[in-house]
Amino acid sequence: MSKAKTKIQWTHMPGFVGATWNFIIGCLRKSAGCENCYAERQVHRGLSEQHKGLTKLTGHGPVWNGAYNVAEHRLDEPLRRTKPTMYFVNSLSDLFFEPIPFELIAASLGVMAASQRHVFQVLTKRPERAVEFFEWLDERVSERVAREDEELRANIHPDDHIVYAKTLDWWRLYVLLDAARKRGLIDVADRADILHSRIPWPLPNVWLGVSVENQKTADERVRVLRTLPSAVHWISQEPQLGPIEYRDDVFEWQPLGPDENGEAKLLPPVRWVVVGGESGPGARPFDVQWARDIVAQGERTDVSVFIKQMGASVIDSNPDTGNSFMRFAGWKPDTTAVKLAHRKGGDADEWPEELRVRDWPKAPAVPAERSTETLTAESYNEDRRMREKLGMAPNPKGPTNATTEGT
Ligand code: SF4
Repeated sequence: MSKAKTKIQWTHMPGFVGATWNFIIGCLRKSAGCENCYAERQVHRGLSEQHKGLTKLTGHGPVWNGAYNVAEHRLDEPLRRTKPTMYFVNSLSDLFFEPIPFELIAASLGVMAASQRHVFQVLTKRPERAVEFFEWLDERVSERVAREDEELRANIHPDDHIVYAKTLDWWRLYVLLDAARKRGLIDVADRADILHSRIPWPLPNVWLGVSVENQKTADERVRVLRTLPSAVHWISQEPQLGPIEYRDDVFEWQPLGPDENGEAKLLPPVRWVVVGGESGPGARPFDVQWARDIVAQGERTDVSVFIKQMGASVIDSNPDTGNSFMRFAGWKPDTTAVKLAHRKGGDADEWPEELRVRDWPKAPAVPAERSTETLTAESYNEDRRMREKLGMAPNPKGPTNATTEGT
C-alpha cells in the first residue's frame, strides 16, 4: 500500500505518522499566496497518469489550467491503513476548489468519519465554498429525514436507536457515509457499524483550516472559517507575505446573540496557528517579527502556535530585540537580512530560543481512541440485535477486545 509519508512537520503530532492523502489533483490560483504554488510545479512533471493535463507552461513557468483529476484508487487509502496517521488532505489541490462536486467531498468526509483512528487536516483558501458544501449537506439531511424517517421507525424498535437516529447529527453522518457507499468505498454493513458507534458532530478527527498570507486574506477567511463545523479550527500562515494581526477574541468562544430557538449562538475559537516563510525559487521575504508577534499572542491567549520555518528569504525588521536575535547564523549588524544554513529556514536550532515553538492544539483536538473494526462483547450483542431487526447477517468480525495494529 502506498503510504505517502510526508516531511511536513505539522503532520507529525506525537502518536501519529504524518502523510498526505491526495485523491484530487489540480487547482487554480486563488490569491497572492498561490504565486509560487509548489503543487503546480510538482504536478507539471507529470509523474503519474493523474498528474497529466492539469497545467500549462507560461513564460513564468507552469500554471494550473483549471482542470482536476480524481485518483479513485486512493480514496479508500485511510480505510485500509490501520496505523494512526495524521493526513494532510489534498496537498496537490484544495478540497473546496470550485469544480469539485459536493458528492465527492461528501464521500471523502464519509471516509474520514469511517477512519476514526486517523486525524485529517483539511486546508483551504476557499472557506466560502466550504460553507456552501455544509448548506448542501443540510439540504440532503432534510430530504433524507422526510423520506426515510417513517421507514426507519417501521424497522427499528423504539427502545433501540430511534431517539438517537432522529438527531440531525446522526443524519449528517448518514449522508456522508452513504456518499462513500455509493462510490463503493464502504458497504451497507460498514455504514451500519459506524452509525452505531455514535460518532459526534463535528467529526472529532477532522480539522478544518484556512490558508492565509496577509491581513486581507486573514480578515476574509478566518471569519468564515469559524462558522464551519470543525473539531479544530486552524490557520496556516504559509507563505506569510505581510504582517497579520488578530484580535485576542479570535482565540476565544464568542457570543453572537440568540439563535432562532432562543439559544445562545457561539462562534468557536481558532485553536491553532501554523506559521511559515516561503521557500523555493523566487521566495518572497518573511519578517522574523511576524513570528514573534504570533508567539506573543499564543502566550497571552489559548491558541497553540507552530512555527514551521522562516523561509528562504528572511529579514528582521526589529533587530533590536536583545541577545537572542544574535543567534541567527549569518546576521550582519548593518542589515535586516538574515542568512540561515537550512535552505527553507526550517532548522529550529538556528532560531532564537523564544521562537522555537511547535505546539499542538489543546483538547479536544485528538479523537478518543475508537476503532470501527473493534466490537466489544457488549457492543457486539447490541449490534447483533439491531442487525436482526433489519434482517441483516451478523457482523463477521465478531466481538473482540483487541485493537488492530499498524501496517
Ligand atoms: S490553493 Fe493551494 S494548490 Fe491551489 S493554487 Fe493555491 S497554493 Fe496551489
